Amino acid sequence: MVSLKEEYKSAIKQLRDSGNDNADFDAGQLFTCAFGFDIHSPKAEAETAQGLVAFKMMIQKRCGGYPLQYILGEWEFYGITVKVGEGVLIPRQDTETLVEAVIRKNRNKSPVIVDLCSGSGCIALALEKELSPKEVYAVEKSEKAAYFLNENIRLNNSSVKLIKGDCLEKVLIDSLPAADIIVCNPPYLTKEDMDQLQREVTYEPEEALFGGEDGLDFYRDITRAYKTRLAHNGMLAFEVGYTQAEEVMEILIQAGFEDVRAYEDYCGVKRAVLGFYTEKGNVKVY
Ligand code: GLN
Repeated sequence: MVSLKEEYKSAIKQLRDSGNDNADFDAGQLFTCAFGFDIHSPKAEAETAQGLVAFKMMIQKRCGGYPLQYILGEWEFYGITVKVGEGVLIPRQDTETLVEAVIRKNRNKSPVIVDLCSGSGCIALALEKELSPKEVYAVEKSEKAAYFLNENIRLNNSSVKLIKGDCLEKVLIDSLPAADIIVCNPPYLTKEDMDQLQREVTYEPEEALFGGEDGLDFYRDITRAYKTRLAHNGMLAFEVGYTQAEEVMEILIQAGFEDVRAYEDYCGVKRAVLGFYTEKGNVKVY
């Protein structure tokens, strides 16, 4: 018999051999998830513990390229824990750039926020926590993603209102109140990107990734459909793919937005685009 610590070391080797560059981290996370204590605990010297079979199965799955986050069942985003699993996009650090830019540029004390293509709800939940908004709406059309979104609202004791449906459907658009902030991380990968997905990403929902031939379909459609849904001086904020900032800025400028800017992540990549809509006569009063 070998100790759990030895099992852990062998797991790292298996993960490495499967081509995993983050083998130590992944093995550590899965170890804690399976056993309920970490590798530095004295309990890791034991030869067995409840969870050993689960641990081995998790390592097998991970070796096959199945995303770590789906195995763990939860992930952290902007200091918030969200549940994830098949059918919902895994929150990424890229998206924290968008959240930070929205917080920095917010012009309202208690804004009404609408999060489109909300997925796990990570953006809506982070903004709710940081901005003391009046109301937050999270729109999601996928049944599976909406399940996780609903769970995440519940688990975070959140007041975010889930709207299940297609954010481009007129009835849904008309049912939303005028918003001070409309935020969206739309599907934005191009046809070419979709043909070269990293192994892990192939397990994530295509409908959360693919943004049409040039990846820009949702930017065009959402900008057109939602600019009149903004309150006066309201903000539209998008996450963008790493080469799309200029094109998305152009879409916003063409639609009449002002103060259109791109915001960089810590590596200097433009990851978010924001603009304000000041044209009068578009405000609906509810
Ligand atoms: N950032 C995701 C990726 O790396 C794409 C998510 C999206 O399309 N919004 O693939």
